[in-house]
Amino acid sequence: MSPMEPEATMGNSAGDTPISAAEIQTALNSKQFSLRYQPKLDCETLGLKGFEALIRWDHPTRGLVLPVDFIPIAEDNGLIGAITEFVVDESFRWYVTTSGVPGLSLSINISAKRLSDLDFADWLKHKCGQSGIRFDAIILEISETAVLGERLHALDMFNRLRTKGFRVAIDGFGLGNSSLSLLARLPFTEVKIDKSFGIAAGQSAEARAFIKSTIQMSHSLGLSVVAEGIEDKPTLDYLRQLGCDFVHGFLVTQPLKAEETGDWILNRRKNIRHILV
Ligand code: C2E
Ligand code: MG
Repeated sequence: MSPMEPEATMGNSAGDTPISAAEIQTALNSKQFSLRYQPKLDCETLGLKGFEALIRWDHPTRGLVLPVDFIPIAEDNGLIGAITEFVVDESFRWYVTTSGVPGLSLSINISAKRLSDLDFADWLKHKCGQSGIRFDAIILEISETAVLGERLHALDMFNRLRTKGFRVAIDGFGLGNSSLSLLARLPFTEVKIDKSFGIAAGQSAEARAFIKSTIQMSHSLGLSVVAEGIEDKPTLDYLRQLGCDFVHGFLVTQPLKAEETGDWILNRRKNIRHILV
C-alpha cells in the first residue's frame, strides 16, 4: 500500500444495516478486532518517536469497519471497557515484541466513558508491570470534547495517571472551541490538533492561523504539540517553520498493520525519503 492509498472500507464503513451491540460482543469473542499503528515523527528531525494504536474491525460480511462507526455503539452499550482491554493487551504485546527502537512512545485512545473509572490508572499500571513497559512510554489520548463534558472526572483521572508517570494528551483539539489556557489547568503533556486543521491547512488561512496560535500558546504553557492529518509536503514544511513538535499523517504513511510495522521501522528512512528532501 502506498503512503496515500486509503484503507478499503465499505461506504460509511459500517454498510447499511445498523451495527448492534450483540455484533460487537460477537466480534470481541471471535477476535474480529485488530489494531493499526500510525507512526509519529519528530517534526524537525523526522525521526521516529512513537506510534498511535488505532482499532479496526475486520467484519466477516461488512468488510473493514472504522472506529467512528462502532466505538459510540460500544460506549452506549457497556462494551467500551472490553474494547479498551483488547486495545491495551494487543498493543502492549505488539510494543514489547516489535518496537525495537529504544524510547518509542505508544499512544492509546481512551473513551470519555472511561474517565469516571477510578481503577483505570491502577489497572493500566498493573498491565504495564506485567509487560515490563515503562509508564512514561504510554500516552493516553482523551478527546477535547470528552474532557469538556467531564471536567471533574478528567481532572481526577489525569491526576491519577500523571502521578503514576503515564503521559496524557488532549486529542482532537480545536473541535470543542475551548481555550487552551483553561484546559491547561488539567495535568496533561501534549496537545493533538485535530486532523481537520492539518488536512485543510493547504487551502485555508483560518486553519493555518489556528495551528499557529495553538503551537505558540501550547509552547508558552510548556506543552508539546502534535499535528495530525498531514497529507502534503507544504503543510509539513509550514509546521516545521512554526516549530511544531510532532506529526502524524498519510504523508508519512497510512496506519500500518501490526505485521507491517517491523519492516517499516527497519527501513524507516527509506520509507520517508519522499519527505526528506
Ligand atoms: P484520532 O485519535 O484523532 O485518530 C486519528 C484519525 O485520523 C485516525 O482515524 C487516522 O487513521 C486518521 N488520520 C491520520 N492521519 C490522517 C491524514 O493524514 N488524513 C486523514 N484524512 N486522516 C488521517 P481512525 O483510525 O478512523 O480513528 C478515528 C477516531 O476513532 C480516532 O481519532 C479516535 O478518536 C477513535 N479511535 C481509534 N481507535 C480507538 C480505540 O482503540 N479506542 C477508542 N476509544 N477510540 C479509538
Ligand atoms: Mg488519537
